[in-house]
Amino acid sequence: MLEELGLGEIQSEGWETLGWIPSDRQLEIFNILYEQILAGNQRLNLTRITDPVGFWEKHLWDSLRGVVPWLSGDKLPLRVIDIGTGAGFPGVPIAIAIPTAEVTLLDSTGKKIAFLQTLVPRLGLENAIPYLGRVEAIAQQSDHRQSYDLVVLRAVAAATVAAEYSLPLLKIGGVAVLYRGQWTPPEQQDLQNAIAPLGGKLDSVESFVTPVTESVRHCVYLRKIKPTPDRFPRPVGIPTQKPLG
Ligand code: SAM
Repeated sequence: MLEELGLGEIQSEGWETLGWIPSDRQLEIFNILYEQILAGNQRLNLTRITDPVGFWEKHLWDSLRGVVPWLSGDKLPLRVIDIGTGAGFPGVPIAIAIPTAEVTLLDSTGKKIAFLQTLVPRLGLENAIPYLGRVEAIAQQSDHRQSYDLVVLRAVAAATVAAEYSLPLLKIGGVAVLYRGQWTPPEQQDLQNAIAPLGGKLDSVESFVTPVTESVRHCVYLRKIKPTPDRFPRPVGIPTQKPLG
């Protein structure tokens, strides 16, 4: 559908900014994803971004911009979790783009997970697993805690809260990608204070502009350098009520 709407050109120029070009099969799956999101939107409030260019930029391109380091090069098995995935962003585009990744799509809203349970087979994705739960609870379970190579979070919580959600789930050496809009020095200072007791360090902050609307975005990369103490994450609701930092 994106192609039919004349977006082929924008798409191919745009994908080049990621240093990655999807195969025809991957483009086909992105198109089915777009159709399914539009259809799902009629019943559920999945996204306000429904025009094809906006969908391409804010849902496809933006989702993949955060994982550029994992898009090319050796395709190693990768265990990934998208915390607060909503309608599947950024986790579903990541599962499409990186077939060797196994992507857990976590959300605490039953309706979102029910949507993803019908979406994933329609996309023919065998490497995406919708999962209903609160991150504070699953991060204390042994089959999830310290089990992931990569954690992604977009539009879920403040950065300090996102750090408390993500670092317990990472293996040592694993990376959390926090997708942010604006990014300020006070946010960075609060984040630095929050990650030290969680066993993390700030690897880098990347600033970039999106290819169509030239909006400013940031990706914050955290690395786990030592085990997170058992008391983190704190019980359900506490990280947002009393943020670290
Ligand atoms: N990441 C998606 C995106 O960027 O389009 C969806 C963002 S939506 C604004 C935030 C989602 O996070 C909601 O679907 C909500 O149910 C989920 N969420 C919030 N707190 C959560 C928690 N503690 N555990 C799991 N999911 C959570």
